[in-house]
Amino acid sequence: MVEIDLDKYRNLERRVGEDWINIHPIQRGGILPSESRKALLEFANGYSTCDYCLEGRVDLVKKPPILDFAEDVAKFLNMDEARFTPGARGAQRTVFEALTEPGDTVVLDSLAHYTSYLAAEANDLNVKEVPHSGYPEFKIRLDEYADKIEEAKSETGELPALILLTHVDYRYGNLTDSKKVSKIAEEYGVPFVLNAAYTSGVMPVDGKELGVDFLIGSGHKSWAASGPVGILATTYEHADETFRTSMIQGSWSGRSFTKKEVYNYGCPPVFGPPIATLMASFPHVVERVERWDEEVEKVRWLVKELEKIEDFHQLGERPRRHTLFSLETPSFHKVSKKRKRRGFFLHEELKERKISGVHPGMTKQIKLNTYGLTKEEIEEVANAFHDIARKYDVKVEE
Ligand SMILES: *Cc1c(COP(=O)(O)O)cnc(C)c1O
Repeated sequence: MVEIDLDKYRNLERRVGEDWINIHPIQRGGILPSESRKALLEFANGYSTCDYCLEGRVDLVKKPPILDFAEDVAKFLNMDEARFTPGARGAQRTVFEALTEPGDTVVLDSLAHYTSYLAAEANDLNVKEVPHSGYPEFKIRLDEYADKIEEAKSETGELPALILLTHVDYRYGNLTDSKKVSKIAEEYGVPFVLNAAYTSGVMPVDGKELGVDFLIGSGHKSWAASGPVGILATTYEHADETFRTSMIQGSWSGRSFTKKEVYNYGCPPVFGPPIATLMASFPHVVERVERWDEEVEKVRWLVKELEKIEDFHQLGERPRRHTLFSLETPSFHKVSKKRKRRGFFLHEELKERKISGVHPGMTKQIKLNTYGLTKEEIEEVANAFHDIARKYDVKVEE
């Protein structure tokens, strides 16, 4: 047998307990309800959703009802067709690959996720960024989508192949007004992609209302799924091109694969737990988006409490319209400089209070997400921060 230390792979345990309060920015929307944990075990094996695959594609499987599910997801998002993808990143790759030729230009907001930039790079595209307003609100200057489209046109003689807007960005949690951008896209006749990785599945998102051609979601980020799984929804107008089926033929064998969708890996690799948990969580997700207002109320309360700490300032738009937010925390940074463990003191103090998710070593700026926490849990978080502040002689307003 090959010599590898295998013991470290046995009895894997997560360091963060299930009973902890988790404020990790990327994790709140991906927590499974109990019914999905059951589905997770039921479909734990690799290709377990493929027992009755008659068409050679996971999105066409009827038992379990994945075919219905794709239709229902499209309906939920008010789009015409939906597919499952390897994450929101896979959905972006699919759209970029389907809609562009090497050398084309795409326009992105300057707070787009790295996966948007990489989707462009992988397809040999030029990127034009729409700037943001800078400190402290970091709002994307949406009107400038038109300027960037004009710029691309005058430089290359062609319109951009597509424009992409991040609905809520991963850094400041700012909610952008996609209607503004969809109007610009429509005026120029450029396809409009909305990256809703942080919104669809946690808050109401209506594709037609927002005027988007492509709507992208993330199962493990915002649809209470194990993942990796993403959602790509589009309109009838773009469905044929985006979900084009294979035309290749083997030069010797004559083999062909006419059911397989070229830009979505033939059959997207989301069999088993990713799709099973996404599906099992769907009733929970459809219900929970209706309670978004309560989530916003809770995060606003926490921001107010945290800003009682000396020199704590929330970054990004005010007031909050999303549960993910960043804070600058220079008073804690000062404390960290005097500590042996430096920036890790905050992480460790929180850990002692069974609160996880603040990036280890970070004290200048922190980022957290309150989505789905109860009011009591959020109060515990506020109290923990207040206690830690007092412990290190940082003032807390009464
Ligand atoms: C997290 C995130 C992604 C990546 O999502 P995956 O589903 O993990 O691929 C893409 N875009 C945005 C805006 C994100 O916040």
